[in-house]
Amino acid sequence: MLLTITTTHQPATDLGYLLHKNPQRMHSLELSFGKAHLFYPEATHERCTAALLLDVDPVGLVRGKRGQHEGGTLDQYVNDRPYVLSSFLSVAMGRALGTAMTGRSKGRQELADQKIPLTATMAVVACRGGEPLLRELFEPLGYGVSAEHHPLDEKFPEWGEGPYYTVRLQGNVRLQDLLNHLYVLVPVLDAEKHYWIGQDEVDKLLRKGKGWLATHPNREEIVKRYLPRQRQLAREALAQLAEDDNPDPDARDEVRAEEEAKMEAPIRLWQQRMATVVAVLRSAGAQRVLDLGCGEGKLLKSLLEERALTEIVGMDVSYRSLEIASRNLRLDRMPPKQRDRLMLLHGSLMYRDKRLAGYDAATVVEVIEHLDAPRLTAFERVLFEAARPKTVIVTTPNAEYNAKFDALPAGQFRHKDHRFEWTREQFQQWSRRIGERFGYGVRFLPIGDEDPQLGAPTQMGVFSL
Ligand code: SAH
Repeated sequence: MLLTITTTHQPATDLGYLLHKNPQRMHSLELSFGKAHLFYPEATHERCTAALLLDVDPVGLVRGKRGQHEGGTLDQYVNDRPYVLSSFLSVAMGRALGTAMTGRSKGRQELADQKIPLTATMAVVACRGGEPLLRELFEPLGYGVSAEHHPLDEKFPEWGEGPYYTVRLQGNVRLQDLLNHLYVLVPVLDAEKHYWIGQDEVDKLLRKGKGWLATHPNREEIVKRYLPRQRQLAREALAQLAEDDNPDPDARDEVRAEEEAKMEAPIRLWQQRMATVVAVLRSAGAQRVLDLGCGEGKLLKSLLEERALTEIVGMDVSYRSLEIASRNLRLDRMPPKQRDRLMLLHGSLMYRDKRLAGYDAATVVEVIEHLDAPRLTAFERVLFEAARPKTVIVTTPNAEYNAKFDALPAGQFRHKDHRFEWTREQFQQWSRRIGERFGYGVRFLPIGDEDPQLGAPTQMGVFSL
């Protein structure tokens, strides 16, 4: 997918100062979904064009897959993602042109503050909403819009027109504004956002939309399409745009299923679990930590209190849980310093995910028993082979201890969603096999009051490289 930005403001090569990218060179960077390259196909005194080319790896997308098209259809491999400009463009812009988007320029601040003639050409966008939507989005911002509609297949005109357009925007604008407009509006045109990162997205939208979104005649549609399937977040964003900060009553009255917690409550098991996890992380000297299957963020809260931790990432397959986590942690009101240490990711432990590589430690607290036993092997490779943190902490119920829960009929699990619960022997065998296969040392810790025969209610395995 390709975006080009051209200026005729002279000397045109000053575009390099605004983008913080030298026109003489090719700039490449690795992203979780492929590569981005920024280069200048023309750079003369009269005219200069910067091109941002994204090389999206469609197979990698499936591997690092989250949510959407689960079910293993061909659609996962054969789709338009590598070609059309989409939210991947925004991610790449955020990484490659972050400073330019804030409007700062080292050598040419005056130029950065100035409106200059700019043309943006989007080689292919999927505009679900057609040309009228294109015009409604960009014309109020002062652009001349020209769009060329492409037939689905030139050989089969009877198939009609597809959603694909080549679009050119021309305007006299600050470069910063053009970039922010594209950042927000390209995913809006495409309306198929590839990922979800919770509250973060609202913050990003408001930051990038600063100064223009609140007054845009289509702001409601923009916000809704920018946050597809996130009605709650869209409401929050609109409320903030309207400077209406009444808290949402739905959000306050969230009711949660807490059967398991209730049963375990008398011994405050979850607190002991958190405390043990934190103690192990401390002794491992971890600084950058993943909490996989973070759920509603109980552990994340304790982790945030650990000053030694510089980067904390919570990931879960359920974005509902992530929403609750972000609310419980009051992400929206967190001081920026604290906020910068935490990231919430939507993703599944069943698929390799580059975002998980390179951490000091990962915690997987009361999660494995939620995974289908036959798919555990996928999880093992995702975590111990691909992500490969130096330390991995896994906790799971000890099935033997269930005999002590009066409320639990024999043979039943502690939670409806548990696919299995293991005895100590079963867990230890599984853990040792992993240790041997992936080269980790393993030790075991009991959590909670230990019964001489049945052991402790929770069992923990600590894997170290
Ligand atoms: N660690 C949390 C939550 C445990 S409940 C705590 O101790 O409070 C199990 C969590 O695992 C749920 O939030 C569930 O959504 C998540 N989960 C289940 N399958 C998953 C998968 N394949 N990938 C990521 N998370 C998953």
